[in-house]
Amino acid sequence: MAKHVLQQTKSTSGICRVCLCTDEQGCAEGCEWSDRAHTLCSACDGLTPAEMKTKRDEAVADLTLQRGMLREELADLRGSLAQTQQRLDFARRHPI
Ligand SMILES: [Zn+2]
Ligand SMILES: [Zn+2]
Repeated sequence: MAKHVLQQTKSTSGICRVCLCTDEQGCAEGCEWSDRAHTLCSACDGLTPAEMKTKRDEAVADLTLQRGMLREELADLRGSLAQTQQRLDFARRHPI
């Protein structure tokens, strides 16, 4: 399983394989790519395997949280879209 993840991330350029930061969303403390393939950033370079694992777990938990918030936001947007549609339908059904 771990091997599979490693292989998968190896081929993905532009996402740090430890903290999952990207060109668009770099580490809070600032970072740059440490390897030519852009799969390890300077904030994670030199960490011990145990530290890398902790950092990866935190990043995954963070992203999971973020995904949940984005989903809620989308639900909100869908909600106001439905409301707008409802008002338009009302206007169509009830001419002045
Ligand atoms: Zn990193
Ligand atoms: Zn980084």
